[in-house]
Amino acid sequence: MKTTAAVLWEVGTPWSVEEIELDPPAYGEVLVELRAAGMCHTDDHFVTGDMVWPLPVVGGHEGAGVVTEIGPGVTRFAVGDTVILNFMPICGHCPSCSNGRSRLCDRGAVIGSGLQISDGTSRHHARGEDLRLMCCIGTFARHTVVHEDSCIPFDSDISFEVASLMMSCGVVTGWGSAVRTGGV
Ligand SMILES: [Zn+2]
Ligand SMILES: [Zn+2]
Repeated sequence: MKTTAAVLWEVGTPWSVEEIELDPPAYGEVLVELRAAGMCHTDDHFVTGDMVWPLPVVGGHEGAGVVTEIGPGVTRFAVGDTVILNFMPICGHCPSCSNGRSRLCDRGAVIGSGLQISDGTSRHHARGEDLRLMCCIGTFARHTVVHEDSCIPFDSDISFEVASLMMSCGVVTGWGSAVRTGGV
């Protein structure tokens, strides 16, 4: 399908909002129609080059939306579910997840590649090239395809704007830095 996303093609250039081609969800993946996304300073680090990431990349590592299609093998989500997209995947059964340390989930080892967790390829394409995703989600888009381990369900009576921040980088990183590390 065709959708729209903000793509960074080169360090030092602006985000390019353009039409991209999106493949259907593969094994374990879901198609999400995004309703809200947050912008974090880390997104800007890609533009300035302060954080190096494989390019071209669809930005955005926090967001919320609705599942509109599920791929084969998806067990935890159905069409119509409202989901937060998490910058850190949580599988629920690796050693770290089993010990209550889901922030260290084994899935996290691949997020820096910008490629799909399931098979290391891309579902997002533009100008004849494969696009990487920020933290395996790429929320600066109208639609994205992600692994179900990157999704957290939430009650649909919470607004998408609030949901996109509350379990994503905006609150988790900021609150954790201030309260856990800074002792505020
Ligand atoms: Zn895990
Ligand atoms: Zn962030």
